[in-house]
Amino acid sequence: MGSYISNMKCPNCSWKGCVVETWTSGDEWAMCQRCGYDYSSERGERKNPVGSWCCFITGGGQIGSIEDSKTILNKLKEHLKQADLIDECWFTFKKGKQWYVHDLIAERIMPFGRFWILKKVIGELEK
Ligand SMILES: [Zn+2]
Repeated sequence: MGSYISNMKCPNCSWKGCVVETWTSGDEWAMCQRCGYDYSSERGERKNPVGSWCCFITGGGQIGSIEDSKTILNKLKEHLKQADLIDECWFTFKKGKQWYVHDLIAERIMPFGRFWILKKVIGELEK
């Protein structure tokens, strides 16, 4: 069973980088790594996310949406403590009209747009 990845405009925050994975079975899954919008044909849409998180450590990676911003920092710090190798660990949040990323490895906060461009550039260089 195969699947293919495409991008769509996020129905929640309008970001154009929302990822959609479509399976040959007809199942579909979408995730916005900016606002945390999350959809699957199995369980429908996740309502009112406040951001998304991403943690790639030894043994695999996880992404998800955030419904409660207070617990996510502790959860990620816990992940980091248990890991030997960390590639990425960050979460997004909205302040005013702007989306930001809190990068737990670099220990800095930057606008989501800039973070995403840097991430892409670094990804290309590492290929
Ligand atoms: Zn979004």
